[in-house]
Amino acid sequence: MLCQNCQKRDASIHLKRIVGGEAGETHLCPACAAALGYIGLFAGVPFPVFPSLTTRLQSDAARLPRCETCGLTLEDISGTSALGCPDCYLTFREKLGPYLSRLHGRDVYRGEPILGLSAPEPDARRWYEQTDKTAGAVFGSEVTFGVNFAGTPFPVRMNVAEKRRLAEAAASLLEDAGETFRRVDMGSLYPYEAVSLAERFIVTPEFAAAGAGAGLLVSEDKNLSVMLCDEDHVRIRAVSGGAAPKTAFARAAVLRDKLYADGRVAFDKKLGFLSRNPMRLGTNMTVSSLLHLPALTGSGSLPATASALRKMGFVLQGAFGDGLSAAGDMYRLTNTLTMGLSEKEAASNLEAVTRQLATKERAAAEKYVEDIGVRDRVQRSVALLSSAELLTSAELTGLLSWVRLGALYGLCDFDLKVLGDLAVNLFPAGVNTLAGQKIPSVRRDALRAQIVKAKLFGEKTE
Ligand SMILES: [Zn+2]
Ligand SMILES: [Zn+2]
Repeated sequence: MLCQNCQKRDASIHLKRIVGGEAGETHLCPACAAALGYIGLFAGVPFPVFPSLTTRLQSDAARLPRCETCGLTLEDISGTSALGCPDCYLTFREKLGPYLSRLHGRDVYRGEPILGLSAPEPDARRWYEQTDKTAGAVFGSEVTFGVNFAGTPFPVRMNVAEKRRLAEAAASLLEDAGETFRRVDMGSLYPYEAVSLAERFIVTPEFAAAGAGAGLLVSEDKNLSVMLCDEDHVRIRAVSGGAAPKTAFARAAVLRDKLYADGRVAFDKKLGFLSRNPMRLGTNMTVSSLLHLPALTGSGSLPATASALRKMGFVLQGAFGDGLSAAGDMYRLTNTLTMGLSEKEAASNLEAVTRQLATKERAAAEKYVEDIGVRDRVQRSVALLSSAELLTSAELTGLLSWVRLGALYGLCDFDLKVLGDLAVNLFPAGVNTLAGQKIPSVRRDALRAQIVKAKLFGEKTE
């Protein structure tokens, strides 16, 4: 199979992505995966990060040391680079250590296992509604913390009943953390419902396909969720709107502290939070901002920016769809360093880089909107949204980008909260979810156009 990005080299990396309302796969060659920032961020540890650590001369497999928790030998691990459980790191510490150091460029966890933050003030609005013009290019922020339990194999090695038990145990630990959760068994959802959770930033694209046994906790405002039996045992995820990353960080941190305090978390003083993905070892945290960058995209300067950011430990990639292109000029900026700096440092570094990018976008946009071609695109987009009877998801995403730019710089008058709502909730699976069933694409496009007209121009839907 050829790489979908370069169409030249063989694809050896298969990422679960959401494409056109379905859970699909994106196939990439290692070079493109690296260039697009997919190394270390997503499931399956796509690279053979550990070389062959044992020689085949030790043919008597029974004599090889095995991890007591999952039964894997070092040879099993080095063949696939997939560890069976968090304890593998400790059992094979001596052999894996040098490769982990090389992988991270720094080999010691420098974070705080207890972050000790207090929960932010409750705000019942969805994250994309927590914004105003001062947020500018910053659409939202997302923080995730992965946590595993010692003495327990990773979910990939569990059956459905074992996953259910683990999900149950983790959920009950989080019950009195001060949040009210709705609990969902991923196996009980229609595929479009699971995909729509990923479209709306409630779960990751990988988790949308987690299936029976995997559990999900969702807060009432849907800005906080906990994925149970993801790649790791638990992944806590919080989103906040506009330029308020600290809100998401604090809200997710409270839950991680709660799990850590239980005493069963797989944590090592030197390696930090043990993760299924060796590249997340340490903080096992991702912190991202969602950035709307139409002017920088238009100026063609983003590829150079992305490559400079990569050297600083950040990846910039498309936030919507398959991630190969930045639909709607919407990008996700994410940290890649998880060792050698604390969770709080990683979050504040990301915040600083986010602010720089937003400032650059503002400077570029102020010039960009003086161009009559750009102003024309904005007004044509408004006209299409007000009169189209059918709107595809891709079309809407593109038009909303122009309209958001226009609204920010005084070319048209729309509420950013409403634009955010439309950008997040009207992807194909989202429209099916609103309709309560999987409907044909023409009906979806008609319903989407109606909703847009109603929300932006106050026209009644049928
Ligand atoms: Zn390629
Ligand atoms: Zn193990």
